[in-house]
Amino acid sequence: ANKVRLQAITDVESYVPPAISFDPGEEPGEIFGQNVFSLNVMQKRLPKSVYKSVLGTIAKSTPLDPDVADAVASAMKDWALEKGATHYAHVFYPLTGLTAEKHDSFLDPVGDGTALASFSGKTLVQGEPDASSFPNGGLRNTFEARGYTGWDVMSPAYVLENPNGNTLCIPTVFISMTGEALDHKTPVLRSQQAMAAHAERVLKLFGHDDVERIVSYCGPEQEYFLVDSHFFLARPDLLNAGRTLFGAKPPKGQEFDDHYFGAIPERVLGFMMDTERELFKLGIPAKTRHNEVAPGQFEIAPMFERANEASDHQQLLMTTFRAVAKKHGMECLFHEKPFAGVNGSGKHVNFSVGNSELGSLLVPGDTPHDNAQFLVFCAAVIRAVHKYGGLLRVSVASASNDHRLGANEAPPAIISIFLGDQLADVFDQIAKGGATHSKERGTLMIGVDTLPNLTQDPGDRNRTSPFAFTGNRFEFRAPGSLQTVAAPMVVINTIMAEALDHCATTLEAAIAEGTDFNEAVQALLTTIISDHGAVIFNGNGYSDEWPIEAEQRGLKNLRTTVDALPELVSDEAIELFATYGVFNEREMQSRYEVGIEQYCLTVGVEANLTLEMGTTIVLPSALRYQTELAQNVAALTAAGVEADVATLRAVSAPIADLRAGLADLASAIHAMHDLSGLDEATYARDNVLPAMLAVREAADTLEGLVADDLWSLPTYQEMLYIL
Ligand code: ADP
Ligand code: MG
Repeated sequence: ANKVRLQAITDVESYVPPAISFDPGEEPGEIFGQNVFSLNVMQKRLPKSVYKSVLGTIAKSTPLDPDVADAVASAMKDWALEKGATHYAHVFYPLTGLTAEKHDSFLDPVGDGTALASFSGKTLVQGEPDASSFPNGGLRNTFEARGYTGWDVMSPAYVLENPNGNTLCIPTVFISMTGEALDHKTPVLRSQQAMAAHAERVLKLFGHDDVERIVSYCGPEQEYFLVDSHFFLARPDLLNAGRTLFGAKPPKGQEFDDHYFGAIPERVLGFMMDTERELFKLGIPAKTRHNEVAPGQFEIAPMFERANEASDHQQLLMTTFRAVAKKHGMECLFHEKPFAGVNGSGKHVNFSVGNSELGSLLVPGDTPHDNAQFLVFCAAVIRAVHKYGGLLRVSVASASNDHRLGANEAPPAIISIFLGDQLADVFDQIAKGGATHSKERGTLMIGVDTLPNLTQDPGDRNRTSPFAFTGNRFEFRAPGSLQTVAAPMVVINTIMAEALDHCATTLEAAIAEGTDFNEAVQALLTTIISDHGAVIFNGNGYSDEWPIEAEQRGLKNLRTTVDALPELVSDEAIELFATYGVFNEREMQSRYEVGIEQYCLTVGVEANLTLEMGTTIVLPSALRYQTELAQNVAALTAAGVEADVATLRAVSAPIADLRAGLADLASAIHAMHDLSGLDEATYARDNVLPAMLAVREAADTLEGLVADDLWSLPTYQEMLYIL
């Protein structure tokens, strides 16, 4: 191997992972939530009346009373100082999809040269970061560059440990001066409220008066890759774009070296134990999975929580993983497709609606009454996903997820629902029975029959469906590993709000007309299933026939981000989000523009990197080898020996392709910069990405030809198998 790579391999082999600071007697329960300003801590530290007021705020999701805020702030500060915090930070979630923080010191200088630890209620509930560097899609002019952050009381504050000093972190919304959302948290909270209001209307019809606030639950399963830092640092593409822009597939692809599976390298186990411990301290209930699909790929699934808390925890989980991986001499890759030809990474979003009193409303009960309620909620999901599949698609759209969706390893870009045979059969019966109002043999009539036993975790779980019923919840499998779960949760909540509103309104009207409740439910379900049943697909989503059939069913197939983004600004979407108070038209427009901006930025960075690496790394290696071969031919000819020109020719052809590809790419990049908006994004997709691919193909061919000692980029085999 080449010197750089050889050195990296040697370094990896001699690497000694850090010792994990486990106290042998430590019980997981002892550290769980130890760095969280939880309700428990508040109860101990706050006057009773203040604590009660906080609970009320959480239950009703209203803003914190200023007097209460002062008391909470003071208790929070004392607690944080005891935990060694020197600073506090409002943590927010801008539209880049990353996590941002505004840090401030607890210490305020007081005239006489000393400092006083101060932290008022106002500082707790409101921050004012100068936020002009965050994308806003035209929502903020530079003269009003300030953004405002405010604590989401439902998401607890926590202390983040750092060798340079601990920080009290406060999860916040991030809004413009005019109150418009600049972040991912604000719409989660708004949409959760909208969904809850209509879910509660439906529940009321089923006799549940005065229920505890309904919320949406989210349990994200996160896939990721680990790569040794030595290789990572020798790959400018991984370093700057998070994915490899070059690299020939390993000889046997992903199934090569089968014995690797099952055996997790010791240092990875150490990393997993360390991350779990850090997550536990932060009150994130996460359990590692060892069921990696690709070499170097792993998975972790935290327990489900309320959507707003779950998405904050998800962001914190990613930050923690990156930091702990570095500590263990590795890099954690969350990109959806870091390695071409190797399975990509997703983030399955398991969701349900309910509360602690009623549990998940997506659990089929044992009695007809419970069944009917379950079937209404289930039908609402069917209506929502059918009517607004395009919005679900756009909620997972990104340049990086485009490499994964529909690539025969992840669900296709067509949004359909998998119900499983049993539940699909139930809805089939409803479709027939409701029309005649007569109970045919074996036909399910609401209020009479109980559901057949639905298996909770059916063995034949359809992995190819983007939206699957899994016994007590739905699992949305299209989200990418890099993205926030907030965006899909906002869409799910909002489209559920619309569907539940429809159900409640229809049933309320029927009752007002004197229709029997069970008949009204039966009629509602029958209508929904006949209007929206086309979205149910229990077959193989990876098959070649499915896109054709889906088209006949009228389902959208928005293959790329560029196809999907305009969904955000369709009349239908603007009306939907406005009706349920989640986004106004300006906010929708801003999200659309940020989506395009992010897409162009990602492709632009990758294109420039491809050009640079192709020109300064790949081409020189290839030319050196070509020269060596040419010298060999010349020397042999001079010596009167028959020279082999075949190898020289074999190398020269892809070198010519590489040169031509680089020239094409340079002009494509140039042309892209002359465009803007959707035109630029479309051009990036149709011209720049293919030009990058042409460069890559020539380079990958050369990787298989050029002498190994002249090739300086770590290979797929090295990155994926040496840990
Ligand atoms: P599996 O391994 O079968 O996919 P798990 O039970 O391990 O399922 O759950 C996967 C994820 O789904 C976890 O994050 C889990 O907390 C979440 N989950 C389980 N039940 C629910 C529910 N009712 N609502 C939302 N998420 C749930
Ligand atoms: Mg799952």
